[in-house]
Amino acid sequence: MTHPHETVDVALGERSYRIEIGNGLLGKSGEWVAPLLTRPKVAVVTDDTVGPLHLGTLRAGLSASGIEMVHHTLPSGEATKCWEYLTETVEWLLEQKVERGDMVVAFGGGVIGDLVGFAAATLRRGVRFVQIPTSLLAQVDSSVGGKTAINSTHGKNLIGAFHQPSLVLADVAVLGTLTERDFLAGYGEVVKYGLLGDAAFFDWLEVNAPILAAGDIDKRIEAVRWSCQMKADIVERDETEKGDRALLNLGHTFGHALEAATGYSDRLLHGEGVAIGCALAFEVSSRLGLCSQEAPSRVRAHLKDMGMKTDVSDIEGNLPDANGLLALMGQDKKVTQGTLNYIMTRGIGDAFVTSDVDSDVVKAVLSDALAS
Ligand code: NAD
Repeated sequence: MTHPHETVDVALGERSYRIEIGNGLLGKSGEWVAPLLTRPKVAVVTDDTVGPLHLGTLRAGLSASGIEMVHHTLPSGEATKCWEYLTETVEWLLEQKVERGDMVVAFGGGVIGDLVGFAAATLRRGVRFVQIPTSLLAQVDSSVGGKTAINSTHGKNLIGAFHQPSLVLADVAVLGTLTERDFLAGYGEVVKYGLLGDAAFFDWLEVNAPILAAGDIDKRIEAVRWSCQMKADIVERDETEKGDRALLNLGHTFGHALEAATGYSDRLLHGEGVAIGCALAFEVSSRLGLCSQEAPSRVRAHLKDMGMKTDVSDIEGNLPDANGLLALMGQDKKVTQGTLNYIMTRGIGDAFVTSDVDSDVVKAVLSDALAS
């Protein structure tokens, strides 16, 4: 059976690149990578979950176009996004004699994409890199747009750079080996796009998301294409987040606080935090009279339909109280001159950025959420 092949262009002048989306792209990866190379060799960094599953297919796909591949494997998990593994990666790339004109490949989920992208941004003051995202989250979000980072003890993604990839290869076939939990966490970022800027996408997801979660390849391709197109449109308008790009952070200020509160551990995955955060952002918007009371209920109903974590009470174990969570939200990168910028909404598909949010209302929503 043939499946559609989609492309999304990210038009950023001399930093423009294409996102290729399809089924079985890994085995033909050389077709897209070869034209970018100055010599037929790439350095691939992956993690110890993705490597054993998919590195052989990638190697074969590159080799079919005469490209040699060396690789380095990092431990999987959020804790890898730290100085120690950044150093290890950069030193390995230098050992491999990666030069200015060479191509580094980030082959994994958002953790590998963020860390390897940052390594590429700093190595020899910047080498080019290809994103081959293997998680749903990475295919729809983290591999696109050029944000790269590692975490600090002070918070997530606080050390990083803007560095656009030269190509993104999103092969939905590899999503088949994700755990259900990781797949659904990635879906948190998919649904975010509908919620922040496209009610028609949210309508489509209400009907089609259960089908794509069950494994439908064409619907997976369509969801990745739609998400990437939305992200590309926003990044083209505001590459370095001086305005509109902040909309992509819908649910993230709450989500990052919950991730910090759970120690960036398995208790709460990033995409799960985003989903709960989106529900909270809609709840606060509704209490402020910005959107209807039905909107947060519709969001929560869809997340529950998908079997996702929806409420703060779905997180196991103890959490800080509302004041504690508010303090963690204050650590967010979206704080400017001491004021927290919120992404609020006028309804599904209609998010906006504002600092004009009464923190007592936020605190009340958090208190209620913690008590339920
Ligand atoms: P991840 O990289 O930890 O991947 C999740 C898990 O899935 C890992 O255990 C990984 O080994 C495994 N995995 C990945 N692909 C697989 C596959 N095909 N089969 C089986 N297992 C597979 O995390 P993630 O959810 O992909 O990404 C989260 C990270 O992305 C966070 O650090 C977040 O901050 C970052 N992020 C960055 C941006 C950005 O714009 N740069 C945007 C959103 C999120």
